[in-house]
Amino acid sequence: MIPFNKPYLTGKETKYIEEAVASGKISGNGIFTQKCQKFFEDKYGFKKVLLTTSCTDALEMCAILANIEKDDEIIIPSYTFVSTALAFVRQGAKIIFADSYNDNPNIDADKIESLITPKTKAIVVVHYAGVACDMEKIMAIANKYNLIVIEDAAQAIDSFYIFSDGTKKALGSIGHMGAFSFHETKNIISGEGGMLTINDEKYIDRAEIIWEKGTNRSQFFRGEINKYGWVDTGSSFLPSEIISAFLWAQLENLEEIQKKRLEIWNVYHENLKDNPGFSLPTIPHYATNNAHMFYLIFNSIEDRTLLIEKLKKNDVLAVFHYLSLHKSEFYNNQHDGRILENSDNFEDCLLRLPLFHSLSEQDQEKIIRLIND
Ligand SMILES: *Cc1c(COP(=O)(O)O)cnc(C)c1O
Repeated sequence: MIPFNKPYLTGKETKYIEEAVASGKISGNGIFTQKCQKFFEDKYGFKKVLLTTSCTDALEMCAILANIEKDDEIIIPSYTFVSTALAFVRQGAKIIFADSYNDNPNIDADKIESLITPKTKAIVVVHYAGVACDMEKIMAIANKYNLIVIEDAAQAIDSFYIFSDGTKKALGSIGHMGAFSFHETKNIISGEGGMLTINDEKYIDRAEIIWEKGTNRSQFFRGEINKYGWVDTGSSFLPSEIISAFLWAQLENLEEIQKKRLEIWNVYHENLKDNPGFSLPTIPHYATNNAHMFYLIFNSIEDRTLLIEKLKKNDVLAVFHYLSLHKSEFYNNQHDGRILENSDNFEDCLLRLPLFHSLSEQDQEKIIRLIND
């Protein structure tokens, strides 16, 4: 069976875990955690990075930092993972779902402004497949209405937004805060894991406190205060050094991992682009491609089902993706009834192909042949 995903190991993960264990310090915020955080800050220009136990946790930290309260309205795309909405629902917020573009699952920036009311507090964007949302437009809207922008960059490591003046900024470094995932299905992994990125300095001190169970422990260990105690809300959001040690091994190979994924992505694109049976991912002029995902968009759910079955019969696992959140069992009776046709269309017609580091040339050729047949 050619699986949909296979976690990639660089070979150094267990070595660094052994180092962490041997050091005698395996709880959070040790040497490996700090090395990983500094790596991300230096390479991508985030003002502050805090590793977390998942992207879901990083999003929960964002919701707390943004002071989201009962009845605040948060604009979120419907075509996304549950966690994007869940973090804000837990704070009592009302989710206002936005539709995607018709040729790209990202939030349609031109449809955001009409959803804003005096209760709107934040816009949460999701860079689907690691491809940037239209951040220049979205930040302009947010500034006009004084809204907080949170980037769900779970899939967006090593991907960038290109501004109209030609400057480039890493995804997760443009909004007020961002959240990344190192779940085993992402480009860079630690089993479960994630990080919070903070770009507006005013959130940094409080973020450290929320990260460490509502205490000012980080400040204490830097010698900035004499004793530490309970000063705010929070949780245990920080990962152990065992997780960070694993992640460090991945970071050492980041360039190599990205190069390989892009090669595989380009082979799919080159060999499938002339097939009239579906369309391929669009990378807007303002976005880069981190090869997180390769997908096909069919004209109907029937076409998609036919291909899934044909691939399965030939031992290839291809999978569809999100179910629109506005129609979910948990939230549909709180949705305001608007129809989000593009989100629903991706729910029915988008299919993801196997894309992982060890996918062999022969296996990829087989997948392409089956699809083109
Ligand atoms: C993977 C993913 C998440 C959740 O990440 P975890 O690290 O598993 O919590 C959230 N949002 C999006 C868009 C994702 O792809």
